[in-house]
Formats: sequence, structure tokens, C-alpha cells
Amino acid sequence: MPYNNLKSEDIFKCKKCGDCCKGYGGTFITEKEIETIAAHIHTDPDTFVENYCQISGGKRILAQAGDMYCIFWDGLCTIHSVKPRMCKTWPFIESILVDTINWSIMASLCPGIRTDVPNRIIKKRVAEELSRNL
Ligand code: SF4
Ligand code: SF4
Repeated sequence: MPYNNLKSEDIFKCKKCGDCCKGYGGTFITEKEIETIAAHIHTDPDTFVENYCQISGGKRILAQAGDMYCIFWDGLCTIHSVKPRMCKTWPFIESILVDTINWSIMASLCPGIRTDVPNRIIKKRVAEELSRNL
């Protein structure tokens, strides 16, 4: 297949291994996401922050359990329908537009990411997915 015809699903297919839900600096969440996820699990935002969040680099992230997995990982994402934008857009994230080396770095952690694709195609698909998920 010519590279130009590769769609997002041709360069990334999740294998559902859960590796991206483990460690790697954490999942950042916004205030709005805190409200949404708190409502989804029937708690209030303050209690949610206290019980399900940690601080990393001065920002709120979802807490990790003792096994280093996200606190919402239980063989699958238990908040899939309301998971943070960072999880929804992975691996089509802003840092790829800054430097496509980040795509290769992420591919070393994620078995669903293809690396035999030209950088210009990766950037194009990432930009499209990001604009779709704004
Ligand atoms: S590491 Fe990649 S393949 Fe595994 S669950 Fe995460 S996105 Fe899917
Ligand atoms: S919210 Fe879900 S997809 Fe995101 S890191 Fe946690 S378990 Fe993984």
C-alpha cells in the first residue's frame, strides 16, 4: 500500500496489552476531566482528587496503584467512556508534531505502533487525529 494512503488505523492498532497504562510519568488530567470522571464513578471532585490523583511535575495525574498501573486499570480501562483526552488520543499526541522521534520512543513502549512509516505521514495523521479530538 502506498504510504500516502495509510490511515491512522494502518499506523496504529491497539493490542490491548495495557502497557501504556503503566508507569511512564503518568496520565495528566484537567479540572474538567476530574469533574467528568468523578461524576462517572459517583463521587465529588474533591474526593476524587484525594483518592485517585497524584502530583507529577506540578500537575495532577491519575494515581498509580502499587503495581505501577493506573488506578483505573483492571485488565482493561474501567473508565473507558470518560478516560482523559491524553488516553483517548494516544499515540496521536502533540509531542509527535514537535519531533517525530517521540513516535519511535513511544513505539518502543507500545506494540501497536508501526515504525516503518515516513515521518511526514506520521505527522499528517497525528495532526488529523488531534484536530478530530479537540
Ligand atoms: S501499549 Fe499500545 S497496544 Fe498496549 S494497550 Fe497501550 S496503546 Fe494499546
Ligand atoms: S484512564 Fe484508562 S486508558 Fe488511561 S491510563 Fe488509566 S486505565 Fe489506562
